Amino acid sequence: MNLDGALRIGRIRGIQISVHWTWLIVFGLITWSLAVGFFPETFPGWTATEYWIVSAVAALLLFGSVLLHELAHSFVALSRGLPVQSIVLFIFGGVSNIQKEPERPQDEFWVTLMGPLSSVVLGVLFLVLFFFLQGVAPAISALLIYLSSINLLLAVFNLIPGFPLDGGRIFRSVVWWITNNFRQSTHIAAIIGQIVAYLFIFGGLALIFTGQFLSGIWLIFIGWFLNSAADASYKQVVTREELRGVKVAEMMTPSPVTVGPSATLRDLVDDYLLQRNVQSVPVVDDDALVGMVTLNEVREVPKEEWDTTTVEQVMTRRDQIKTISPADDLVQAMGELAGDEEVGLLPVVDSGRLVGLLSKANLLRYLKLREQLGAPNARA
Ligand SMILES: [Zn+2]
Repeated sequence: MNLDGALRIGRIRGIQISVHWTWLIVFGLITWSLAVGFFPETFPGWTATEYWIVSAVAALLLFGSVLLHELAHSFVALSRGLPVQSIVLFIFGGVSNIQKEPERPQDEFWVTLMGPLSSVVLGVLFLVLFFFLQGVAPAISALLIYLSSINLLLAVFNLIPGFPLDGGRIFRSVVWWITNNFRQSTHIAAIIGQIVAYLFIFGGLALIFTGQFLSGIWLIFIGWFLNSAADASYKQVVTREELRGVKVAEMMTPSPVTVGPSATLRDLVDDYLLQRNVQSVPVVDDDALVGMVTLNEVREVPKEEWDTTTVEQVMTRRDQIKTISPADDLVQAMGELAGDEEVGLLPVVDSGRLVGLLSKANLLRYLKLREQLGAPNARA
């Protein structure tokens, strides 16, 4: 998940911790359901204010528990040389954005296992505290028993063998460990993930027919989420596998259209942008890339000044644009392109010289072609 709509709350060991706005809805829902449901039913006789305060504290500590679960994943990842960019808490819990897919099944196994394991440890810890602190104050007992059960529930939910839940990932890493085939084990894990997703959806429908409407909707919602996540994760793996070992040089558009730095914007618009239907053009001086000029940059200049303004005056300069080398790995270039939504275009530069352009369209065309040809995993 990207960081759009996420509030940054701090950094731990270089990992950006953020809260997505959907989590605030969950916070409200949890507090409300505890204050009017769980706590009054389990611990009757408090005032309404007490219920609300204890419920809000419980929801905050749940937030802390989910964060600890994610930190457990992230710390193991860091210790195994897998960089972690961020942790985002959102409607379904948390996500640790580990920047590399693990290359060894052992890494995936341990990184994943530590999350649910930390939830189990927390659950047991709160339970032990509950027994030791019984009778101190009813509010504390209530909090501890809630946190103990929610953490154990969290562990159980995460251990459902539906990929990409922790359970599914652990399952995949074990199959991967045994078969030594990453793609096949992902396929098996994704299929099981989808079966689990459908079980959730059917279970939800069954609940709706027996009158438990809200729980039913919630189960269907989780099932739908699991199903699309399993599907998307598998497709991503397949794409990466197919592109493994492919170099940028094989996929780029060689000798692209370029413009000189002294050309006027009028020339640029008439001869390039309109005629060739492109959004951005590399600016080249004597074969060397000096910048990129885009339609948006032209639009910022009033039409009357197009005859007197040169490309050089409005372009984005060389030192401010990302470039790649023709010998770079394509999968890596895809990562760069994905992070740059606006341009979707990378100049390919070989010792200062512009030799081609790589666009998202190039990648999509290639993948489409592969699909039509039914090409097997040619470069594995
Ligand atoms: Zn987890």
